Amino acid sequence: MVLFWFRRDLRLHDNAGLFHALKSGKPVLPLFIFDSDILEKLSDQNDARVTFIHNTITELHCQLKVYSSTLLIKYGKPLEVMQELLETYDVEEVYTNRDYEPYARQRDEQVQKMLQENGVIYKSYKDQVVFEESEILSKSSSPYKVYTPYKNAWKKAFEASMARAYPVEQHLHQLMRHHEGPIPSLQEMGFEPATIQTPLPRLSADVLQRYEENRNLPALDATSRLSPHLRFGTISVRQAVQLAVQHNDTWLQELIWREFFMQLLYHFPHSAQESFASKFRHIAWLNNEEEFQKWCDGKTGFPLVDAGMRELNSTGFMHNRVRMVVASFLVKDLLIDWRWGEAYFADKLLDYEQASNVGNWQWAAGTGADAQPYFRVFNPDSQVKKFDKDYHYIRRWLPEFNTANYPPPMVNHASARDRAIAAYKKSITAF
Ligand code: FAD
Repeated sequence: MVLFWFRRDLRLHDNAGLFHALKSGKPVLPLFIFDSDILEKLSDQNDARVTFIHNTITELHCQLKVYSSTLLIKYGKPLEVMQELLETYDVEEVYTNRDYEPYARQRDEQVQKMLQENGVIYKSYKDQVVFEESEILSKSSSPYKVYTPYKNAWKKAFEASMARAYPVEQHLHQLMRHHEGPIPSLQEMGFEPATIQTPLPRLSADVLQRYEENRNLPALDATSRLSPHLRFGTISVRQAVQLAVQHNDTWLQELIWREFFMQLLYHFPHSAQESFASKFRHIAWLNNEEEFQKWCDGKTGFPLVDAGMRELNSTGFMHNRVRMVVASFLVKDLLIDWRWGEAYFADKLLDYEQASNVGNWQWAAGTGADAQPYFRVFNPDSQVKKFDKDYHYIRRWLPEFNTANYPPPMVNHASARDRAIAAYKKSITAF
């Protein structure tokens, strides 16, 4: 028999690894492991991502029942769970889709090694991206560090057939007849159901066609909200790319940013821990904990920053324009290490994805591979004038705005800006 191991690809349709497993001609038993190594690190019992995964798994479980199969669901360390499964089932092969985050790569290497030592074949497939880390390389065969040439090479290499869906539906009769008892509850794994819901994606032609015009206006519901679905694979990237090709090139370019950051983290895993540009590894961050807390709570006295942080804290989402503003404010105006902000986002974002989070934080901090120049500092008030001039977004998330309860600005932006530029310059000199 064959095990198909679901991870960040929580869907039956258009799933590359599942398709190949079913085509093997052997009975396929689908498996999901709640990875205790990941879950134990989460600080919030009500983590909305765990609830989302749990709900999605429950749904998959029901869909599989139609084929007299079920999902085998385990909780524990993947290596140990796999070892136990080899004792229970006559496993000949394990199929899965590749996951590129540093932790996942290490985990998969260990599992693969153990399986091979036990005579079990391990096969992994590309599913999460259109192009993997080494499929788009520069002329000198090295990874791109700058987005625009990467994007151009990506588009040149792309063919419509690459976004074609895998016809999994035609092969589902290969699923193993199997009956599994109830799914472990959230409570059994130490969690509680979250109140935050993951929104459905907005992929209508109308939203996508008007994307360019409206995407920077946080008061409008003008972006796709696809990110958590791409994170957990409830929608396939091929489907998204097909829609982008059909409707909007600007939106396609956003999907390419995602792959750009993924290949960057793959080739430069150290960038998750330190500034990509070595000249910025000596910045004398102030790292004031009280100020950091004000930023986290949305109490800085800068309305767009505060509205963004409130949106994040109550929904697990923040509009991209506002993410850029709050990130710039933390790093430049407060001179707090971008890694603090990255970690806070990692805790809160429903769409948290290490490559995109690290890549975007380093972009905003000016320390990244292809970042905005360090001396360009967002003015949080001008950003309001440009992108929320009628204060619709601000009022939605900040009811006390313009009342006596709203605090005054915690820093003077002009002098904070000068202070930041001086700190960056000093780091360059020290380098
Ligand atoms: P849309 O605007 O509809 O874009 C479609 C898709 O393109 C997104 O779902 C996403 O997959 C991709 N995309 C769009 N913008 C970017 C971008 N700048 N970088 C990479 N991919 C992009 N995105 C994450 O998915 N996970 C993160 O952890 C994350 N952290 C971020 C941290 C900061 C400081 C900033 C500035 C941005 C971050 N982003 C992250 C990128 C971006 O904000 C979100 O992808 C976007 O807001 C999600 O909303 P949407 O699905 O409606 O996007």
